[in-house]
Amino acid sequence: MLNLVLFGPPGAGKGTQSQKLIDHYQLVHISTGDLFRGHISNQTELGQQVSKLIADGELVPDSITIAMLEEEINKNRGAKGFIFDGFPRTVAQAQALDDFLESKRSNITGVIALDVTEEELTTRIAKRKAISNRADDDSEKLKKRIEEYFNKTIHVLPYYEEQGKLTKVNGIGDIEDIFAQIRQIVDRLTS
Ligand code: ADP
Repeated sequence: MLNLVLFGPPGAGKGTQSQKLIDHYQLVHISTGDLFRGHISNQTELGQQVSKLIADGELVPDSITIAMLEEEINKNRGAKGFIFDGFPRTVAQAQALDDFLESKRSNITGVIALDVTEEELTTRIAKRKAISNRADDDSEKLKKRIEEYFNKTIHVLPYYEEQGKLTKVNGIGDIEDIFAQIRQIVDRLTS
């Protein structure tokens, strides 16, 4: 299996690059942000539980997020592999993912971290806000999301670095150039 984690702060381009990776490697895309938004728009019980947290730019508790992720992996038993986008966002989530994959005799192949400056992130999300209709793209909420990233999510990087699985890619530049770099990394991982 080819299991990739696409890592980076809000607005780093994870969604864009995920789409390209899925098309190229025929992987199943698991975006916890998209899954939560699906629950919210379908007004499920889970959606009701998390909507305020998400609108405020806070992280959803690990227990809820991990359970949802495991369910999604189980739904795709025949998959050639997965792209995890927006997950793990805490070290506890990273550990839970490792344990869960191990129980399925699988593991994370590699982690690609998109490096983008805070200034660039703010500019990109301000632009996205005009079309996204996402309450959490509001400037105050965005500040909270970036804060959550630097307080909690950034610690996931050393976790994977210690496992020798982390590769950083400059997330500023032409979308196709960035994808070409990611493809090179993935091809190296699988050769
Ligand atoms: P972004 O564009 O900020 O990277 P996402 O679409 O990935 O955002 O996620 C939107 C929101 O969903 C997050 O701000 C957070 O509230 C919640 N969320 C998504 N993934 C996770 C996760 N792995 N753990 C906790 N909360 C999450």
